[in-house]
Amino acid sequence: MKCRHCNADVQHVLVDLGVAPPSNAYLSKIALKRPEKYFPLKVFVCESCWLVQAEAYSRAAELFNEEYAYFSSFSTEWLSHAKKYVDQMIERFGLGESSLIGEVAANDGYLLQFVKEKGISCFGIEPTASTATVARQKGLEIVQEFLTVNLANDLRSNRRSVDLLVANNVLAHVPDINDFAQSCQILLNLDGVLTCEFPHLLNLVSQHQFDTIYHEHFSYLSFGTVVNIFAKNGLQVFDVEKLGTHGGSLRVFAQRSDTGSHPIESSVEDLRNEEIGARMHNLDFYRGFQDHAEKVKNDFLEFLIEKKQEGKVVVGYGAAAKGNTLLNFAGVKSDLVKYVVDRSPYKQGKFMPGSRIPIVGEEELKSERPDYVVIFPWNLREEVVKQLQDLALLGTQFVTAIPQLETFP
Ligand SMILES: [Zn+2]
Repeated sequence: MKCRHCNADVQHVLVDLGVAPPSNAYLSKIALKRPEKYFPLKVFVCESCWLVQAEAYSRAAELFNEEYAYFSSFSTEWLSHAKKYVDQMIERFGLGESSLIGEVAANDGYLLQFVKEKGISCFGIEPTASTATVARQKGLEIVQEFLTVNLANDLRSNRRSVDLLVANNVLAHVPDINDFAQSCQILLNLDGVLTCEFPHLLNLVSQHQFDTIYHEHFSYLSFGTVVNIFAKNGLQVFDVEKLGTHGGSLRVFAQRSDTGSHPIESSVEDLRNEEIGARMHNLDFYRGFQDHAEKVKNDFLEFLIEKKQEGKVVVGYGAAAKGNTLLNFAGVKSDLVKYVVDRSPYKQGKFMPGSRIPIVGEEELKSERPDYVVIFPWNLREEVVKQLQDLALLGTQFVTAIPQLETFP
């Protein structure tokens, strides 16, 4: 296998999670009668540029199909994160009525709606029809395509170069990371700013967050690797912030290497040094991850089997990718986790891919009062616990499996 950034031979396996269906391939009742498509879930480390990457087998078009059901607006925490981001960027870069803001993977318009509110022109790039339709209903302009160098050139010649390009939680999802970086460079105005948010590989490895590995993620990124990939594609990183989202993310600020005028902040050197200090440029850093993942899996299974034998009812919360990775790696089915609750009406009535555990609405929890609720999106743990406070008062306990099994309160 060749590295998708530097083309070197890639051999070291970070983790092998077996095979699983794409994590957003929720099943309808009729689909339960048919077999599912399984893909290997194996992640490698390039010892030349340190890009951690999935095997290059699954095609993006197959993963982000029409039924792709992730609607960003269903997380209230995520919405407030987006609103805060918009306010910050407008202030820091002095954006106003004459500015143009673009967003890659605009989803259902969860972020651009706040840009529009401020009276600033904007457009989104979003290949998925279902989410693009919802964004258009909010009055947003959506280019319904994948961002490629060709599309970026077209937009540029149609005067769609931007002052701010938002690419939050998309960098890890693109199969061709070089083409993506180059496309962003093309779309930027002379002084334009690109911001990218992605989960920080440092946290993924050190906190055993193996459930953030799924087919839609092609890359797992360190800061140093992103700086180098951007530099090779005409982009200069000038600032970086640490965020609490997704178990520890980075927000990287970049500009065109040839014309950008934003000064390089000390945060850039600081974070590079932190990664060097953590020995992220050494294979030792990546060794042992498989063992940690297996320990988490075994502890989780032991817990579920024990509770089953005690006659307790265990259910899940959050029908998203993290839960699917954990459930499929552990081989858990509905005999051990009765159902998974999710707020999104697009998922209710469907079944989790692979495990085929039914997805239900929150009202089910209120009538059943289960003994345990496993919170799959551990990064939204506080939000979920607050939401289910009534249940806790009636004696239900909460469980998270990562970084290690924990039952509370
Ligand atoms: Zn490489």
